[in-house]
Amino acid sequence: MQLLKEKILKEGRVVGEEILKVDSFLNHQLDVALLQEIGKEFKQRFSSKKVTKLLTIEASGIGIAAIAAQYFNVPVVFAKKVASRNLDNETYKTEVYSFTKQKNYDVRVSKRYLNEDDHILVLDDFLANGRAALGLIDLVEQSGATLSGVGIVIEKSFQEGGQLLRDKGIHLESLAKVNRFIDEQITFEA
Ligand code: 5GP
Repeated sequence: MQLLKEKILKEGRVVGEEILKVDSFLNHQLDVALLQEIGKEFKQRFSSKKVTKLLTIEASGIGIAAIAAQYFNVPVVFAKKVASRNLDNETYKTEVYSFTKQKNYDVRVSKRYLNEDDHILVLDDFLANGRAALGLIDLVEQSGATLSGVGIVIEKSFQEGGQLLRDKGIHLESLAKVNRFIDEQITFEA
């Protein structure tokens, strides 16, 4: 997606060899006009798929999914990272290893909001080693729903997540695929 690549080149900041910071439009401040284009692009790329709900993970996935949902005309469900008294007792739960925080945490979705009639499109901001996406897919499987695919804004092609998902036969669409950062330079996979 050309507009996204231009934005990454203009505003993305490389941290070390593996982390890309895009706080100015995706992870802290949100560029809503860009998110609308991202939402339309996901809708077009998954146009052949039945989708009844979008599933993402808090916090950064919520803005992306909520705006994309306007083009899919379906609800958004986001997995919660913190157990609280507000959350229903009946939940699907899975453990995810956080790439950025380097620790395991549980994520949960109330059983009310995923069920076997659903066709779920999983959306997230980044794909690195695939732990977040695989955790969300595990929640879909626990619920008996059908996985329609996985949509990612930025895939880091040098980490294993993309390969893992494609090897499982999952329909994966990444709007920008970045290569390993050398000398803090950002390049894209064709
Ligand atoms: P994974 O679970 O695929 O290893 O990592 C994906 C998750 O970690 C995403 O939900 C995202 O929040 C975070 N993440 C992984 N790599 C990066 C990165 O380079 N930059 C940012 N901002 N977040 C990342």
